[in-house]
Amino acid sequence: QDYQNVGLVVGVTGIVGNSLAEILPRSDTPGGPWKIYGVARRPRPNWNAKYPIDYIQCDVSDPDDTQAKLSKLADVTHIFYVTWASRPTEAENCQINGAMFRNVLRSVIPNAPNLRHICLQTGGKHYVGPFECIGKIPSHDPPFTEDLPRLNVPLFYSNQEDILFEEVDKRRGLTWSIHRPSGIFGFSPYSLMNIIGILCVYAAICKHEGAPLVFHGTRDAWEGFQEFSDAELVAEQEIWAAVAPNARNEAFNCTNGDVFKWKHLWKVLAEQFEIENYGFGEEMGSERVRLEEVMKGKESAWEEIVAVWSYADVVLNIGAGYFVSMNKSKEHGFLGFRNSKNSFITWINRLKSHRIVP
Ligand code: NAD
Repeated sequence: QDYQNVGLVVGVTGIVGNSLAEILPRSDTPGGPWKIYGVARRPRPNWNAKYPIDYIQCDVSDPDDTQAKLSKLADVTHIFYVTWASRPTEAENCQINGAMFRNVLRSVIPNAPNLRHICLQTGGKHYVGPFECIGKIPSHDPPFTEDLPRLNVPLFYSNQEDILFEEVDKRRGLTWSIHRPSGIFGFSPYSLMNIIGILCVYAAICKHEGAPLVFHGTRDAWEGFQEFSDAELVAEQEIWAAVAPNARNEAFNCTNGDVFKWKHLWKVLAEQFEIENYGFGEEMGSERVRLEEVMKGKESAWEEIVAVWSYADVVLNIGAGYFVSMNKSKEHGFLGFRNSKNSFITWINRLKSHRIVP
């Protein structure tokens, strides 16, 4: 088969990587037909196996492994970098994530003569800093636009951007785009931050134990407006940017384009798991505790899901109103959007259909 473009998805079993693996092979995808290489650290899981891609198991934090496996991919035209590693401190995050990204670029750029574009996925922390800094350092006034200057704190996204500019500069004509989703609704049992997976496991345990589905976050988070990003929408924006001349060398926010309140989605979550007793902690006579504490010792039932309960605590305790602007993305020609409630239900059903939760 003749391919028009060849994509290399780094992090193909991740929350957006899995959606890229699903969308890129479709016959009506912009820039297609695409040939796709997909890289991830572990053996290919069954929930990713149906996508027609060349799966490459490679640890991109290891420069030798990366060089050995990725320098051979001479036909790559586009890189979709949708991976990261989590370390205890932001200084370590900068180090490891910078090294991983550099290993990939230095293995591919010199060996892929037709390489044209690199998509780098970062995120909304660009505007507020690492999770531990949110609310504690002066940040910009939302809604956040892409042209705002970087904050004066270490953040691995900044290191990755600098590495991107440095490596791209070495070869004329190479273009890039940076994508900044907010929290992501999607499917991946291997994702480090998968709020749908965490909430579904929590709800399934509540159902199993006959316990109420208590929202352990703040009242701000319960009642305030929130925005999220659908994994498929993020993948669509990245594919759009990979082929649209108008998107070259630009950063783009990426959110669903609507707002929701957790108190409304909590009802949806309860309905999806047929739990009648649910609500905000204080109103249910429950003290505010961290989900991480509530769920201690209950991870073993869901080995597949990386149940990083502490991530849910960040999401459910974050203040409301950290909005990004989607104007630039729309003005440049990407008009995609999602209905967040429908997106929430769709991904819950995806987890159920893979029997990851009952
Ligand atoms: P993820 O955690 O869902 O997936 C990471 C993928 O990379 C997986 O396929 C994993 O197997 C693979 N991987 C991890 N280490 C690897 C290694 N050493 N070698 C090869 N493969 C490896 O990723 P994500 O959440 O899409 O994160 C990508 C970027 O998006 C990050 O910068 C993250 O901060 C940002 N982001 C994520 C969210 C979210 O809710 N998940 C929200 C906003 C921004």
